[in-house]
Amino acid sequence: MELGEPIYVGKAKSIYKTDKEDELISLFRNDMTAFNGVKKDSFAGKGAYNAAVSAFFFDYLEKNGVKTHFIKMLDDHTMLVKKLDMIPLEVIARNVAAGSIVKKLPFKEGQILNPPVIVTDYKDDERGDPSVNDDLIVALGLVTRDELAEIKEITHKINKLLYDFFDELGLIFVDFKIEFGKCGGEIILGDEISMDSMRLWDKVTKESFDKDVYRFDKGDVMTAYAKVVEKIMNWQKENVK
Ligand code: 5GP
Repeated sequence: MELGEPIYVGKAKSIYKTDKEDELISLFRNDMTAFNGVKKDSFAGKGAYNAAVSAFFFDYLEKNGVKTHFIKMLDDHTMLVKKLDMIPLEVIARNVAAGSIVKKLPFKEGQILNPPVIVTDYKDDERGDPSVNDDLIVALGLVTRDELAEIKEITHKINKLLYDFFDELGLIFVDFKIEFGKCGGEIILGDEISMDSMRLWDKVTKESFDKDVYRFDKGDVMTAYAKVVEKIMNWQKENVK
């Protein structure tokens, strides 16, 4: 596929124009980074794993009434998506305390957060993605208060759907990060939903099956990602006829 020059290059994906004004191509690269790009590697097949998992979840969410930018896969690591006007917010939902919340606040790692907690970071690498509250989001003009309420409502819905899905696979959906955009005035889920942007623990052993394996050298990250892909594909075989 001839893609030309990317219009945006992120840490793990590159975005390309298409011949349609309202569609873009999202290419999932094999690059893996952590700690705001301080740790960097490339793993053959990683882009395809994340693309396959993202495509599966976008489709699963659409079937459950959540609007996403996903149109179709073009090959195993290249996705055709609707063009969105992206909102520079990282919306993070947490079911279990882990990661930055344990460092910054007196939560114990593994502590259940019920009801789930939603936090928001301003997406800006140079500033280290600072945490922002509702007032700051509105003051920065990122979205209106009503749009923010809608973003949180959609995030809770996605969280519940994915928590229940992973529960069935024997995994705890600890936390995840998503990003939204606007198209024709509507709030739509964009970016990706993959092991790069979530925490997944084995229900029994609490072993990680996500980017923490890479971040903290907990083992072979591709083996961990492959396990999640395998579980999802097996679920698909049994449930999607
Ligand atoms: P934490 O705030 O604990 O670092 O991250 C919470 C959750 O959001 C984790 O699942 C983490 O992978 C995800 N997350 C937070 N920031 C980013 C980011 O900049 N990129 C990606 N891919 N995921 C993020």
